[in-house]
Amino acid sequence: MAMTDLEFKRAVSPPKAGQEMAYFFIFYDNSIFIDEKEEQQVSIPIFKIEEALKLKLEDICFLGMIGDRSCYSSHAQALNREIGLKPINIRALYGKIDFLFWKVAGYARQIHDWNLNFKYCGRCGRETERKNDEHVRICSNCSLMSYPRISPATIIAVVKENQILLARGVNFPNKKMFSVLAGFVEPGEILEECVKREVFEETGIIVKNIHYFKSQSWPFPDSLMIGFIAEYKSGEIVIDKNEIEEAAWFSPDKLPLVPSRYTIARELIDWFVEGSDS
Ligand SMILES: [Zn+2]
Repeated sequence: MAMTDLEFKRAVSPPKAGQEMAYFFIFYDNSIFIDEKEEQQVSIPIFKIEEALKLKLEDICFLGMIGDRSCYSSHAQALNREIGLKPINIRALYGKIDFLFWKVAGYARQIHDWNLNFKYCGRCGRETERKNDEHVRICSNCSLMSYPRISPATIIAVVKENQILLARGVNFPNKKMFSVLAGFVEPGEILEECVKREVFEETGIIVKNIHYFKSQSWPFPDSLMIGFIAEYKSGEIVIDKNEIEEAAWFSPDKLPLVPSRYTIARELIDWFVEGSDS
């Protein structure tokens, strides 16, 4: 994936002057509109702000700056042809666009969803208002504050001697794909407890020596994936059929189909393969 020298600087209030052209992260359902000049060359569209207003974009929200250009999120009400851009599934954008823009697209999507989903107070139902200097929506009646939501999940490589525990989730679109185990953190739980609980609930395996690996923002819709490595302690595989179709221990030379690059799942599996004895 290409890398640019540009940086993204988050901000809540747009600069007052000198912002002629801006990047627009425009969403429609699960798609984002891209500018496709040639087959392999896609980019985030750039408009003058006045032009963007003519396109009837809704819920325009300032996100910050890439270089000296402002960035906005918004959505198109319909797939109107006036926009002259191509919608592409957000996940499919991965690998097609510079990594910085991919990351900002994920951020844009989450800020955008928060803005839409918290227009009304979850406690009393009245309208909320956005604060000017912080991403928070405040209820006009009861003052409940709603921040953009992030859902932490652990993702775990369980290793037993020279084998890794992989499973095929019931929701995997590809019926041959296996991956490491993952699950959402529950209220009141610390990450290591979540690792132990998820592995045990899904496969009946008890783990020990849990170590942090790395993390990845995963905006589908709002996860923060926190990677861990754990050692097998005891137990036989007994799957939770509500979540898992199949689980097994795999040696590095006999891996099944696994997730694509740029996912933390794959990085955990690659870490295992590189560090294995074979
Ligand atoms: Zn309220």
